[in-house]
Amino acid sequence: MGDGADMSASVERRIGDNIARQIYRDPDYTDDPVLMDYVRGIWLRLMQAARLRGELSQELEEAFAWEIVLDRDRSVNAFALPGGYMGVNLGLLAVVTSEDELASVMAHELSHVTQRHIARLTGQSSKQGPLLIAAMILGAMAASRNPQAATAMIAGGQAAAIQGQLNFSRDMEREADRVGYGVLTQADYAPEGFVTMFEKLQQANRFNDLGGFPYLRSHPMTTARIADMQARQQLLPPNTFSPSVTHAMLAMRAHVLSHIDTESRRTTVQAAANPQLSQSTLVRQAGVLYGAALAASAQRDFAVAERLLGQLQGLLRDVAPAARLLRLLGAELALAEGKPALVLERLPNGPLGQLSGKPLRPELFLWAQAVTQAGQTAPLSQAAQQLQTWVANWPRDAQAWQLLSAVYAAQGQGLSAVRADAEGRAAQLDFAAALNRLKAAQDMMRQGGKIDHIEASIIDTRAREFELRLREQSLQR
Ligand SMILES: [Zn+2]
Repeated sequence: MGDGADMSASVERRIGDNIARQIYRDPDYTDDPVLMDYVRGIWLRLMQAARLRGELSQELEEAFAWEIVLDRDRSVNAFALPGGYMGVNLGLLAVVTSEDELASVMAHELSHVTQRHIARLTGQSSKQGPLLIAAMILGAMAASRNPQAATAMIAGGQAAAIQGQLNFSRDMEREADRVGYGVLTQADYAPEGFVTMFEKLQQANRFNDLGGFPYLRSHPMTTARIADMQARQQLLPPNTFSPSVTHAMLAMRAHVLSHIDTESRRTTVQAAANPQLSQSTLVRQAGVLYGAALAASAQRDFAVAERLLGQLQGLLRDVAPAARLLRLLGAELALAEGKPALVLERLPNGPLGQLSGKPLRPELFLWAQAVTQAGQTAPLSQAAQQLQTWVANWPRDAQAWQLLSAVYAAQGQGLSAVRADAEGRAAQLDFAAALNRLKAAQDMMRQGGKIDHIEASIIDTRAREFELRLREQSLQR
């Protein structure tokens, strides 16, 4: 490949960090806890399978970020980025019809990462610094979204050349299919997911309306790939999986969160009033009612949202796997209505999962926000504890840091609140903003008053660390 050798995992990670830092600042970046919980759950399950199959070395696991970034973009796309970051568009979530299909795309992308395909592509440009390579990749991503704007971003006629350089080769695509298929089945997903997704993409290709399916541009359907897939399909029993109620609701959630204009929301709410809805499948009804409840809440039409929630609860009374999503929806509506007591009532286990007894991210976040709204002393210190444990396990969880900051503020612990806010910025690799917050905290300390000496020494240490990271970032070019 080219003249450059493959780049090291740590250089690739630095490129990935530079890209991620920009994505986190993009207004379309979203960290919806419910969708993130779903997508990350699939990702972790696939990673475990890749580990078992020896596709994921310990060295790579330690060097890379393995973070999911969700994007409100409506186009059907998922993309492996350098350094173990994986972008997933809400447009993809809205269009797949089962968890297995979603897992098949993610398994393919994961395999591009584990097979070090990205290192081979970017290795060709290894004479350029990580910042420049990151800028090129960001430019190519923007180009797949909006061809005209991106051409302006990248000087002259370079855009097409860069895009070409960043595309995976046909052999890489076939390898990612083969390895991805193995990982998917190892993870106990239905292998039909791979086939139905493939058919869906092929079909879409026929009606390709420029930009609707950028996935196909970066992963072209070659005859060889199609032949491989047909051979795999012949080994499968016919049609053994059916779409699930939970997936239908989550797909509608992705739709609602990526269609935020008033007109789209109104259409989504109206779909629930269609008299023919009761004739359609349970899966379809659940999706429509769930989406309508969310959209009504977003329009602050809470009476309608609550009525739809009640309808949904009636419809899914005997569908056990849907219970958790209904609990979360109920809590979410109550929070939006500004009724923290109702949130706590609708989350009988607080931040903990009903089955596991362990904190789950969406539950934890809703519960912590309700506790902060209610502002009572004992629950606040419990929330602080739960969130402290959470960020100790997931230090890159910016949203958890922000919630912890809000809890501290409600407790009147100003210094800790500012530090948690700074940690949230650092989690999204914005060390300049993180440092700014800590400097504000240091100013607060200088102005005297009651000082927590432990917190003060943590702030000084972290400020030095962030300064160092900031200097590293500026030396990369
Ligand atoms: Zn691919």
